[in-house]
Amino acid sequence: VLRLEDVWKSFGDHDVLRGIRLEVSPGEVVALIGASGSGKSTLLRTVNLLEPIDDGRIWLRDVDISEPRVDVDDVRARIGVVFQQYNLFPHLTVQRNITLALRHVHRMKKGEADAAATALLERVGLADKADAHPDRLSGGQQQRVAIARAVATSPELLLLDEVTSALDPELVGEVLDLVRNLAADGMTIVMATHEMAFARDVADRVVFLDEGRILESGPPAQVFGAPREDRTREFLARFT
Ligand code: ATP
Ligand code: MG
Repeated sequence: VLRLEDVWKSFGDHDVLRGIRLEVSPGEVVALIGASGSGKSTLLRTVNLLEPIDDGRIWLRDVDISEPRVDVDDVRARIGVVFQQYNLFPHLTVQRNITLALRHVHRMKKGEADAAATALLERVGLADKADAHPDRLSGGQQQRVAIARAVATSPELLLLDEVTSALDPELVGEVLDLVRNLAADGMTIVMATHEMAFARDVADRVVFLDEGRILESGPPAQVFGAPREDRTREFLARFT
């Protein structure tokens, strides 16, 4: 689904991504872990074309999306994205937050979009909040709506950037459960996370970023259980 080939990105003279190579297969769940500032968010933002890259290529299936003439809207329509916070439009109801994407991206008629949004809200357990505005929802509920909205358009790829780190601890579980369900349904997911237990549980592959490089990558059991690099071991030691 996704392939990054030797991607470089700097801000001024600070090299934030230094030759990233990463391939993500259909249905694969990849967890990006690494210290604050290691480049996880920047990596996700380059894939969604929020940050131009300096060198390398990024392929979304058969399209080179790092090519300057690429249709940005078309690429973003194929990728669902959820960030840490501020994902929903505050002035729209929960229902409208979801139908907006469906009507714009999929050109659905109102009735069709409404039906799809209702089905999605049922799936995430928030059918009763359809007419509420986001500020009436808990943080966990808001993130569940944001994730429902991101997958409403049936994206080929879902990017999640620390979707639980702004939440109170008791709300983290409900959001992670939803991600776990999407993964079980075969959604291709790349997620930056500090939830090591969750990464271990859900990810097919864990990628450890260190100062803009992929220092090590492998199945969770290997990266968490028997890290090859000292820096990985040092990083993981902070979570035990
Ligand atoms: P965290 O775990 O804290 O979210 P991260 O791994 O997501 O960290 P990034 O947000 O990708 O890290 O940032 C990587 C580096 O790039 C940091 O040193 C950051 O200060 C720098 N950086 C990110 N965005 C910009 C920007 N727009 N302008 C300048 N520097 C930036
Ligand atoms: Mg980040």
